[in-house]
Amino acid sequence: MKPKVVISRCIEFDSCRWNGLIISNSIVKSLKPHIDFIPVCPEVEIGLGIPRDPIRLVQEGDIIKLYDPASNLDHTNNMMDFADSFLSQLPKVDGFILKSRSPSCGICNVKSYSPKGNVLSGKETGMFARKVKSLPPLLAVEDESRLLNLRIREHFLTKLYTLRSFSALEKKASSLVNFHADNKYLFMAYNQQKLKEAGSIVANHQKLSLPDVLDQYSIVLSEILSGMPRNSANINVLLHMFGYFSKTHLNSSEKELFLDLLEQYHQFQVPLITLTSIIKMWVAEYGVNYLENQSFLQPFPKELQTIFDTGKGRIGKQL
Ligand code: SF4
Repeated sequence: MKPKVVISRCIEFDSCRWNGLIISNSIVKSLKPHIDFIPVCPEVEIGLGIPRDPIRLVQEGDIIKLYDPASNLDHTNNMMDFADSFLSQLPKVDGFILKSRSPSCGICNVKSYSPKGNVLSGKETGMFARKVKSLPPLLAVEDESRLLNLRIREHFLTKLYTLRSFSALEKKASSLVNFHADNKYLFMAYNQQKLKEAGSIVANHQKLSLPDVLDQYSIVLSEILSGMPRNSANINVLLHMFGYFSKTHLNSSEKELFLDLLEQYHQFQVPLITLTSIIKMWVAEYGVNYLENQSFLQPFPKELQTIFDTGKGRIGKQL
C-alpha cells in the first residue's frame, strides 16, 4: 500500500539543480522507505544541462514566461509540452512533492520579474507546477520546505494515505461502507458538514450504480481533505472518543489528566499524538471495537510520525 508520489529530482535524489547541487530534506529522506517516489527534473528533461544558467519567470501584462536571461531563450513552450506529455503518461499517483520557489517546480511563492529584471511578485507558480495544479483534485500536493512544518506535514501525510486507501478499495459497495466507517472521526475533524454528505452518498438512497456512487464520493472526499482540520475540530473528535471510556472505565484522576492534556493541546503546548496515544491505549485496554480501526488515531504509518517542526510555513495556506 505504498503511495506513489512524483518528486522534484533535486530533492534528495540527484544533483541536478542549476548550480549542480542537491537539496537535502530530512523529511523526504525519512519518507523514502515508505513511498514509491517518481523523481523528475523538468529543466533537465527539456534539455537544459547541469550546471546551467538559472532561469526565471518573466511577466509582461498577463503573460508569464519561463525565460533564460543569459541566453535570451524562452523555454515556456518546451516546458508546457514536457509537462503535458509527462503527466499524461504517468501511472496513477497519489501526490506530488515539489521544490519550493523554483520557476519550474514551485507550487507557490515563486518570484516573477519584469522584462527589465525587477521583481514583480513572490507569489507565482512555476511553469511545470501550473500543470500539476490543474490536475483533478484527488492528489496530495506539497512543497518540500512546507513539509518541515509539523501540522502541514501531518495534513499532507493524512491526505496522501487516505487517498491511497480510497484508490486501493475493492470496487464493492461493502468496501466503501467500511472505508467511510473507518474514516468517520477523521472526516469529522476535517469537515463535519461534508462527512454527512459523504454518509448520504454511501447510503445511496437513490439506488445509483456503484461507479456513480464512487464518483460522487470521490468529489466529496476531495472537498473533505481540501483544508486542514482546526485544533477545535480535533478536540471535538477527541471528546467524542473520550466519551466511550469516561463513564464506564475511567476514574476521576484519569479523566482529569486527559482533560488537562486536552487543554494543553488547545494551547499548542502538546502535539495531537499525545492525546491519540492515550485513546489508543484505552482502546487496547477496554476493547472498544468501533474505535479500533478509526484512521483518526493513526492516519498514516507510525514510522512516519515525528514531532520535528521548524514552525515555518503558513498553515492556513492551501496549495
Ligand atoms: S526544482 Fe525542479 S527543475 Fe529545478 S532542479 Fe529541481 S527538479 Fe529540476
